[in-house]
Amino acid sequence: MASRWSSRSTRRRRRGRLTLGRAAAIALALASLAATAAPASRAARYFETIRRNPPLLLAFLTAMPKGGDLHTHLSGSIYAESYLRWAAEDNLCVVTATMTIVGGACDAQEGRAAAAAVIQNAALSSEAIDAMSMRHWEPARNGHDHFFATFAKFGPPSTRLGQMLAEVAARAAAEHVSYLELLVTTDGGLSMQKGAAAGWSDDLPRLRDRLLAAGFADVVSASASRLDQVEARARELMRCATPQADAGCRVTLRYVWQVLRATAPETVFAQMLAGFEIASHDPRVVAVNLVQPEDAPIAVRDFALHMKMLAYLRTRYPRVPLTLHAGELTEGLVPPEALRSHIGDSVRIAGARRIGHGTAVMYEDGAIELLREMAARRVLVEIALSSSDLILGVKGDRHPLRTYLKHGVPIALTTDDAGVSRSTMTLEYRKAVEEQHLGYATLERLARNSIDYSFADADTKKRLRADLDAAFAAFEREQSARHEP
Ligand SMILES: [Zn+2]
Repeated sequence: MASRWSSRSTRRRRRGRLTLGRAAAIALALASLAATAAPASRAARYFETIRRNPPLLLAFLTAMPKGGDLHTHLSGSIYAESYLRWAAEDNLCVVTATMTIVGGACDAQEGRAAAAAVIQNAALSSEAIDAMSMRHWEPARNGHDHFFATFAKFGPPSTRLGQMLAEVAARAAAEHVSYLELLVTTDGGLSMQKGAAAGWSDDLPRLRDRLLAAGFADVVSASASRLDQVEARARELMRCATPQADAGCRVTLRYVWQVLRATAPETVFAQMLAGFEIASHDPRVVAVNLVQPEDAPIAVRDFALHMKMLAYLRTRYPRVPLTLHAGELTEGLVPPEALRSHIGDSVRIAGARRIGHGTAVMYEDGAIELLREMAARRVLVEIALSSSDLILGVKGDRHPLRTYLKHGVPIALTTDDAGVSRSTMTLEYRKAVEEQHLGYATLERLARNSIDYSFADADTKKRLRADLDAAFAAFEREQSARHEP
């Protein structure tokens, strides 16, 4: 007790020695804090009372408007249970040694069990779900390889894009997410085929001409008709435009074209060209991104070449924005040299307006300078806390989320691959509170960033902003009605 009293009196003495300058600075800080917290004061006050109470925090964060999810791979966002159910519906099989869904004749004795039998068998289906996701994965084991290996196990059901859209839209609506930018490939591999046929040339303008002359309009129309078909199927499944419409019908969907970067330069370039062409013609496709592990040997070897390709294509398609997976790395995963410039090059050479993950930012040359530059250029970082933890083992204080915030770099929370990570947007917000210690005003700012930094067209963005304002106003009223009767 005595020591407590003495420490209090010490604090009092210290307070007495506050200089006028510090007092003014504190007053200013409090005023600005009050100004930022004012629009959601009741929710913010309630949040402070429950932030260390996990059950109530969960209820609060589930109901909280979260704006958009700017980084979500459609195939990785589907839970394994859905893939297995669709496999059973299509009479597909599961190779039980690897838990991979395949077509053809099933024969349990030969290790190809019928998917319908797998989902009926509790032990087998549990094993399949664990293999197809990060569920029950031992953190000390190689999460990176297990994570990326899941994508090859989904098999033919991962082409059921209509069902997949319906699943993610319905889930988004249920957790108060109003907008999704889904990473997809919608040309059925046509651009890769054309790239392989055209071959490689260092002369990028000539290579582009050669590809366009080989009929790239086919790629644009293949993608548009695939998206038409997929969106129509999703609307049908959600019973949109009927009185029984699922809330998912109200979620705005846009797409980011993904380029498989761990492939040969000619196929990477052709996919990039496809993305820029499609985004120029189809307003639903709003940006281009590079996917596959950034540490894959080809991705590391060709990183500089990929930046050069993007820099060139951006001169031809200056209106198509780029968001790039960059710095999804950590020490030991790649040689130190590969940690020094991926984020900086993505921003400075390729002109990326957003960065996916950015986990390794502090390993970059001139990291502080880079942070300042990203803040000045308003380059947003799509933070995926579960994914960084599960793939890279980077979490808590070792994650640079708060370093980005401290340097004024805009960030948003994203799920990356909610199905594989067994995550939700609500869980990402919970981790932002429990592991990153963010307060309500910051959470609200991140939700607003997810609309402000989206690549939706100006009218759509204006509508989404107005909807988010209304959602926050309603949330504020709910909180006060519920918790301050
Ligand atoms: Zn990603």
